[in-house]
Amino acid sequence: MARSELRVVVVGAGIMGASIAWHLARTGARVTVLEKLSAPAGGVTHWSFGWVGTGGSLPSGDASYFALETEAVAEFARLRSQLGSLPIAARGALVWLDTEEETSTLISEQQTAGVRIEALSSTRFAEKEPRVAVPPALAAFALDDFAVEPVDLTLQLLAGAQAAGVEVVCNTTVDAIETRGGRVVGVRAGENRFAADTVVLASGASALPLAAALGISLPIREEPAVLMRFAAEPGLVHHLLCGRGLELRPGLSGGLVSAASFPDEGESGLTGLAERTTGKIAGQFAPVPDLSLLSVNAAYRPLTGDGLPLRTFLPGIAGLYTVVAHPGVILAPYLGRLAAHDIVEA
Ligand SMILES: Cc1cc2nc3c(=O)[nH]c(=O)nc-3n(C[C@H](O)[C@H](O)[C@H](O)COP(=O)(O)OP(=O)(O)OC[C@H]3O[C@@H](n4cnc5c(N)ncnc54)[C@H](O)[C@@H]3O)c2cc1C
Repeated sequence: MARSELRVVVVGAGIMGASIAWHLARTGARVTVLEKLSAPAGGVTHWSFGWVGTGGSLPSGDASYFALETEAVAEFARLRSQLGSLPIAARGALVWLDTEEETSTLISEQQTAGVRIEALSSTRFAEKEPRVAVPPALAAFALDDFAVEPVDLTLQLLAGAQAAGVEVVCNTTVDAIETRGGRVVGVRAGENRFAADTVVLASGASALPLAAALGISLPIREEPAVLMRFAAEPGLVHHLLCGRGLELRPGLSGGLVSAASFPDEGESGLTGLAERTTGKIAGQFAPVPDLSLLSVNAAYRPLTGDGLPLRTFLPGIAGLYTVVAHPGVILAPYLGRLAAHDIVEA
C-alpha cells in the first residue's frame, strides 16, 4: 500500500500519541488522533515533571536502560532541528545525593559512559544557584540535561502534525477496536466509526481493556507520582535541582514545579505532602521566598512489566500496534520515530 493511502488511527493525544502522529505525518500517512478528553495532553503528560536527561541514573544500575535513555535524549536535538525551538524551561541539572561518595560515584560513572557531567564545589554551586541558602559541598552538574514543558511540547507536536494534514479529534473515547478476518479495520467511539488500516494504542494503561477485548493481555501496570506547581518570585532557581529529597525546576512561564513520590497514606496524604514540600522548598533559600501552592496532583504513570518500552505490533490481529513506555517524555521523540518507521514499513 502507498504511504499516502495508509490510514492510521492513533488512540490518545498525550506526548506519546502526539510524537507518533507527528512522525507519521512526515511519512505521508493519513493520520487521525482520537482523544477522550476535551483537549490534548490532559492525561499523565499534564502532570509530568519533564526532566530530560540521565539525571541521577547510574550506568552500573541497569546498563541497557542507561544506554536507551542516552540514545533517547539525543533525539531531542534531531527534533529541534525538524520541529523548531522546543519549550525548554531549564538547562543543566544539579544533582547531589545523600553522601558525597555517592555523588562522586555518579559523576565518575556517568563521565565514563560519555555524559557531560562535572563535579561542582559549593562555591561553584552558589554561582549557579545564588539563592540556595546552604549549597552542598559536592554536586554533579549535568550540562546537557534539561527540563521541557510536556504539555507545550505535546501541543507543538500536534500543531506540526495538523499542519501536515493530521486530524486531531477530542471528546472522543475509543470504546472498541474493530476487526475483520483477523485484521484491524477501524475503531468505534460511541456512535462514530473511524476506518483504519493500522490502530496505534498510545493511551497508556487504557490500552489494557481495548486489547483485552481482543484476547490480548498487555504487560502494563500503573504507578502514581505527584506533581506540585507553585507561584514563586522570578529567578529563584535556574536549573533542575535534585537533592535533599526535593526535585525542583522553574516553570517555563514562571513559578516552580516539583515532583515527589506518592504518599504512603494515598490520595488523602496529598495535602500534607504539599504542605511539607512547601516548607521544605522555602527552607532551602535565603532570604525565605514567597511561595504559594497552585496545585498538587497524583497521576498514574503507565509502566511496562520489564521496565523497557513496549513498542510493537500485537500478536493475532494484523494492524494493531501499541507504544507504552516510561519515562514517556524522554522516550517520546525516539519511540515516535521508530513507531512511524515500523508502521509505514509493515
Ligand atoms: C509526577 C510525574 C513526574 C514525571 N516526570 C517525568 C520526567 O521527569 N521525565 C519523563 O520522561 N517522564 C516523566 N513522567 C512520566 C511521563 O509523564 C509519562 O511517561 C508520559 O506523560 C506518558 O505519556 P502518554 O502519552 O503515554 O500518556 P498520557 O499522557 O496519559 O496520554 C494518553 C492519552 O490517551 C487518552 N485516552 C485514554 N484512553 C482513551 C480512549 N479509550 N480513547 C481516546 N483517548 C484515550 C488519555 O485521555 C490521554 O490523554 C512523570 C510522570 C509523573 C506523574
